[in-house]
Amino acid sequence: MRQQLFFSPTMREVPQGADIPSHQLMLRAGLIRQTASGIYSYLPLGRKVLRKVEQIIREEMDAAGGQELLMPAIQPAELWEESGRLDDYGPELMRLKDRHERDFVLGATHEEVITSLVRDEVNSYKKLPMNLYQIQTKYRDERRPRFGVLRSREFIMKDAYSFDTNKEDLDKNYRAMYEAYTNIFKRCGLDFRAVKADAGAIGGKGGTHEFMVLSDVGEDTIAYSNSSEYAANIEIAELPDMYEKADSPSESLKELYTPGMRTIEDLTNGLEIENSSLLKSVLFLIDDKPVLIVCRGDHEINEIKVQNAFDAENVMLAETEDIKHIMGTEAGFIGPVNAPEEVTIVCDFAVKAVSSGICGANLVDKHYQNVHPDRDFKVEKYGDFRLVQEGDPSPDGKGTIQFAKGIEVGHVFKLGTKYSEALGAQYLDENGRAQPIIMGCYGIGVSRTIAAIVEQHHDDNGLMWPKAVSPYDLHLLVLNPKQEEQNQLGETLYETLKRAGYDVLYDDRKERAGVKFKDSDLFGLPIRIACGKKAAEGIVEVKIRRDGKMEEVHINDLPSYLA
Ligand code: ATP
Ligand code: MG
Ligand code: MG
Ligand code: MG
Repeated sequence: MRQQLFFSPTMREVPQGADIPSHQLMLRAGLIRQTASGIYSYLPLGRKVLRKVEQIIREEMDAAGGQELLMPAIQPAELWEESGRLDDYGPELMRLKDRHERDFVLGATHEEVITSLVRDEVNSYKKLPMNLYQIQTKYRDERRPRFGVLRSREFIMKDAYSFDTNKEDLDKNYRAMYEAYTNIFKRCGLDFRAVKADAGAIGGKGGTHEFMVLSDVGEDTIAYSNSSEYAANIEIAELPDMYEKADSPSESLKELYTPGMRTIEDLTNGLEIENSSLLKSVLFLIDDKPVLIVCRGDHEINEIKVQNAFDAENVMLAETEDIKHIMGTEAGFIGPVNAPEEVTIVCDFAVKAVSSGICGANLVDKHYQNVHPDRDFKVEKYGDFRLVQEGDPSPDGKGTIQFAKGIEVGHVFKLGTKYSEALGAQYLDENGRAQPIIMGCYGIGVSRTIAAIVEQHHDDNGLMWPKAVSPYDLHLLVLNPKQEEQNQLGETLYETLKRAGYDVLYDDRKERAGVKFKDSDLFGLPIRIACGKKAAEGIVEVKIRRDGKMEEVHINDLPSYLA
């Protein structure tokens, strides 16, 4: 590609509103441009990296037995009604009507569509197992789109779905996907960890793992053992024998957790929510009155249902923006609870809230405005509601817990029969009996993966693409285009290198050498070849972007040097 006509607008300054390196660099190097909040265009350089990552994903998915298809981004709302997620998914789901007033949604994910597809076409055990995938645009009206393509409202996902007749085969499919993901992220040059995870909005009772790229800008916290394979999202990290360990589990604590309020599961009993693992709650004291916060994954909770759950007229519910902010979720409620004694229980939300110092402020309009932790309420740590902490013994008994920040780039789930039962996707077994198909689903944020790669591969001067995902193999520069020898050599090398199979970006612009060097570092192709003063002697300067190593190489030696 000749850079003279290349559509790759660069920026010298750090763009406003871009707070993290990947967002800044993807804008500065001209990979992306924002079209609306959380909605991006990929310029040619960005598109090329997307293609590279997509290709790696395709190769590994195909090798693992996946079959690629393509489903529509626009989906009839009825399918989501059938699965029960039209309400459940909440405001993240983008909804629209056609000219006949029929309801549609923009696909946030494709369980419904794929399950209906398979329901209509697959009916015998002889056609299973099967694994179908697509690479496609997804829509989620994120409450806080941010960090560029790391959390956007339109993004590219690879989503795969497996279909099996028994749990053993599901396990095999899951394993195969787990391994494919490991290969994919390794090939992308990422330092990552697979962690046990929460089933979230997708639901399903089986296992689930998230693939986390280790990075300080990550929004998730990973709790891992310093001397074993144990690693979990802090949301679900187990606590080893905390009841025994608690300093003084008070009587009142036990009292509160008498039937109906004993565990999170019990708390969620009345909520008519199928997957109670989505629900988190915290109870603490404000003015000596226990206050309950309930929140649920990515979902809205119906206020009336919550009231029913506690059957107390003084459960004052206030859905507030603050609590959403604190908990990073889409729904939250706070209110004093008719609880027996002075009790304080803390789970992760309270810990977050307390450490951020905003807990209580503006949460409830009247009585409880601007309360402060410690001054206005107490926080103690008891029982299995305590969040795992650094230095805790690892639940597997090996080593102690450490924390790291992670970016979730992939997620694998065992769904079981949640969707096949809801949508009636059945097969006939060997005995001619109808059975629900057992499913799994497996997502990779393709666009987010690119941002994660940038987070791990850059320096102050710009990007540093790992070879496998670099938009071009080589950056060829002519330093002084007015010098005929340099031009000549540039043109010759451009042709010969292309013929040798390299994908070359050729800076033939009429710019100063300094500008070209700067842009070259910013683009971050693995190897730079500069035709400069020694062009007449057939000597070029080769620079390795990653370590900055520079060498003069005669063009006759170039093929072996690059090989
Ligand atoms: P998060 O916890 O970051 O909101 P998620 O758990 O909601 O992600 P999944 O439903 O597991 O996401 O979707 C599969 C993958 O899609 C995620 O692992 C992530 O890589 C990617 N993804 C999800 N939401 C976004 C987004 N808003 N922007 C970019 N990629 C996303
Ligand atoms: Mg999400
Ligand atoms: Mg998640
Ligand atoms: Mg997820």
